[in-house]
Amino acid sequence: MLLLFKPSPRWWAFITVFVGLCGQGFDAYSWGFAAHRYINESAVYALPSPLREFFEYHRLVLKERAVSADQRRAWDPLEAPCHYMDMDRWGDSERLALPLHWDSAVQCYSEKLLRSRGILPWHAPRVYRRLVWAFEQGNHRLILRTAADLGHYLADAHVPLHLCSNYNGQNSGQHGLHALLESRIPEYFGDTMAQTLRRAEIVKHPAHQLWQIMNDAYAHLERVFDCECQCRSQVPSHEQYAPFRRGNRLLRQESIPFVLCYHRCLGGLMGRQLASSVAHVADWWMSAWVEAGQPMLRAQWGSDANNMESFEEEDAEDRWKGGGGEDHDP
Ligand SMILES: [Zn+2]
Repeated sequence: MLLLFKPSPRWWAFITVFVGLCGQGFDAYSWGFAAHRYINESAVYALPSPLREFFEYHRLVLKERAVSADQRRAWDPLEAPCHYMDMDRWGDSERLALPLHWDSAVQCYSEKLLRSRGILPWHAPRVYRRLVWAFEQGNHRLILRTAADLGHYLADAHVPLHLCSNYNGQNSGQHGLHALLESRIPEYFGDTMAQTLRRAEIVKHPAHQLWQIMNDAYAHLERVFDCECQCRSQVPSHEQYAPFRRGNRLLRQESIPFVLCYHRCLGGLMGRQLASSVAHVADWWMSAWVEAGQPMLRAQWGSDANNMESFEEEDAEDRWKGGGGEDHDP
């Protein structure tokens, strides 16, 4: 099946980030796949009891499943648009007037148009509704699968380059920006990005909050692009890249002086987005549990709960997200 998959340019950008991280032996703070794992695992510790005990017991599932949503892109054609929104392809007034609910958005615009520009702001709230439903049903496996996915989509919403069509700098002569922002900075300066986490708080209107998160991240885009240009002019061209070996091949990536310049210019932006992601993931998990009536969960439920293969089989059979973001239960 993989052979039939033709990656889009956007997908290649994500693959580049992942492969780059694998080749570098990333640490717990690396953005990309490692960052998603870090965010989900860290959010567990911001939860209150007894929810925390359940999630903590299954934290490895939440951590490993944090990247399942990206992996599903390989075989699920509906998956990719769930991870981003090209906010720049909507006019300012048009974007402000976009309906909060998927059904209304489809009535105003075609589903094809919405999907072509990304459906993250409708999909994440739908995953939230599904998590509420999973809690109500007491379906422990579905709780873990859905919570892990929700953490992934929320984290994506904090990344400025997930919110514009120039997601890898390909339209502005800044090709490779995605990996520079999400991989190189955390690889080199991850230790300085850790921030104190706060306790989870109730979210009254998840869809509203998601738009706020996206608007906040989108507001940093100009800086993300400008800083790269500034550093290209400040750091001598022969010092901008450094070689590294991957297998038998000698490749190049941005040098430490260049990444340091970019990191300083951004003023700690990625560290703040990482910490904000952790906080919001914990908020949404707890809010779903509270909305479902705070059901009792058996912390040590499921002797096979850590069997990732069984989760992946369920993923393959579970095609629930045919739509975009209805408000009713799945
Ligand atoms: Zn993603």
